[in-house]
Amino acid sequence: MSEHETGGCLCGKVRFTTHGPLREVVFCHCSQCRRQSGLYFAATSIPADRLTLEGEAEITWFAASDFARRGFCGTCGTLLFWKPNDEPRYAILAGAFDRPECLHPGHHICTAGRPRFYAIGDGLPQYPGDGPGVVTAAG
Ligand SMILES: [Zn+2]
Ligand SMILES: [Zn+2]
Repeated sequence: MSEHETGGCLCGKVRFTTHGPLREVVFCHCSQCRRQSGLYFAATSIPADRLTLEGEAEITWFAASDFARRGFCGTCGTLLFWKPNDEPRYAILAGAFDRPECLHPGHHICTAGRPRFYAIGDGLPQYPGDGPGVVTAAG
């Protein structure tokens, strides 16, 4: 992982730069992430003061729960962020990075409610609900 990583949405209106280390990628299989992403979330995380945004006005924020908002490009719909209301940090969708190979996988959360037509077979830890340090919506 280099000191700076970059990424952005499909149409290019929203761009971001991260500064410093990124958390391991957490895969969330909850029903909210399933609907919004098409199957499940894969996101790293960074303190808000280590993220630089371009095109911030292009981001649409949706509050799927009363404790976090989900940010996506208002033009192309690319999922970009999950932002807890009470913590100064951004979860950033792994697929939005220009160089996603800079990331490392961590674990799976909210696996209890996942559709059974797909298997999780990567050997990473699985948590049926919230995982260590990550609180999500139930289900
Ligand atoms: Zn876009
Ligand atoms: Zn989720």
